[in-house]
Amino acid sequence: MTPNVGAAHEEPAASSASSEPESAVETARKQLERAATHLDVDPNVVERLEHPATVYEVTVPIERDDGSVEVFTGYRAQHDSVRGPFKGGLRYHPEVTRDECVGLGMWMTWKCAVMDLPFGGAKGGVAVDPKSLSDDEKERLTRRFAEEIRDAIGPTVDIPAPDMGTDPQTMAWLMDAYSMQQGETVPGVVTGKPPVVGGSEGRQEAPGRSVAIVTELVCEHYDRPLDDTTVAVQGYGSVGANAARLLDEWGATVVAVSDVNGAMYDPRGIDTAAVPSHDEEPEAVTEYAETVIDNEELLTLDVDVLIPAALGNVITEANADAVAADIVVEGANGPTTSAADAILADRGVHVVPDILANAGGVTVSYFEWLQDINRRSWSLERVNDELETEMRAAWRAVRDEYEARDVTWREAAYVVALSRIAEAHEIRGLWP
Ligand code: GLU
Repeated sequence: MTPNVGAAHEEPAASSASSEPESAVETARKQLERAATHLDVDPNVVERLEHPATVYEVTVPIERDDGSVEVFTGYRAQHDSVRGPFKGGLRYHPEVTRDECVGLGMWMTWKCAVMDLPFGGAKGGVAVDPKSLSDDEKERLTRRFAEEIRDAIGPTVDIPAPDMGTDPQTMAWLMDAYSMQQGETVPGVVTGKPPVVGGSEGRQEAPGRSVAIVTELVCEHYDRPLDDTTVAVQGYGSVGANAARLLDEWGATVVAVSDVNGAMYDPRGIDTAAVPSHDEEPEAVTEYAETVIDNEELLTLDVDVLIPAALGNVITEANADAVAADIVVEGANGPTTSAADAILADRGVHVVPDILANAGGVTVSYFEWLQDINRRSWSLERVNDELETEMRAAWRAVRDEYEARDVTWREAAYVVALSRIAEAHEIRGLWP
């Protein structure tokens, strides 16, 4: 394991040429700087928060099933831990980079603070296409990656969780690899595990559940009953499918859902339970559709609520003007570039940010971590009740800032997060 020495002093990435998509770290830094203008916060603290505490870059060699050896690169970016251990997902995706992990790690810091969880922020992953690996190869990759970052993680240090391309099985392998080396079973080293090895009931559905709860709350705020609300959801994985199904159950009309192959569109409303989620039958949405449109068209449908719940950077300068929804609820991490965000704000489109909307995942991760420490599991009912309580409390804190200042929903969420983080930094001070 080689910490990327000097990581904490690196300059922000050069701003991207207009044709290049904005990197997560660029978006995250711009959002931080904007939020800081709304707060009387010590600029030295903001300066510290622009940089990750540490970035690990590791080489992950694995034996392929044919006996050849392939070498992948893995990362763990630990952003800030002033409020508690680093926390955040691990993704397996061909486009994972150091900068992406840093940006996503920054968002985890804000997300945990908005939810008032005793965690900081981190993100990591391996630059690999998980679809190109057999299950055995995925297991070898995960165990070797766990070994490479073993000194960087731990139940009171840094607690990984699932993200794009990883799932409860990945977390079980990681927990096993770590525990075997520790000589004891350490369930609290990761969250998002299967319940049989210390995972929490309701964890997998939690990000989608929080998206649905926040969608209901924002609709209520604008006096829009769910019965009278149309919704389009991009992505039908654990975030998109769970959000779509709950909103459908609660009375909304879900008119479009999609996966990588395209979108199913039905203005009369889709029976979301009858469309298999990515976990139930991967990439099958369009097979169940009478009318198929592409993912780009889904983003511009004339609906009340648009929920991008797949990739980052899908709402950009190029299509933000064409977004016809009145409300965007970010299910994915970073689906809106900063240029698109400004366009949507000018047009009066309300964007409820990722750091609030999909925070149910890390919130139930926190419940899981508590259950692991106490060696006592909670019922699904308790998990869902407590998640709802936490989401409503976070919503109220953000709404109060939104109403008290002339800001967007994203800025209001950042104000809540940043004031908590800055206060902790100021009280702890800078050592030495
Ligand atoms: N990967 C999820 C996120 O982006 C969950 C992180 C966690 O549970 O630690 O929020």
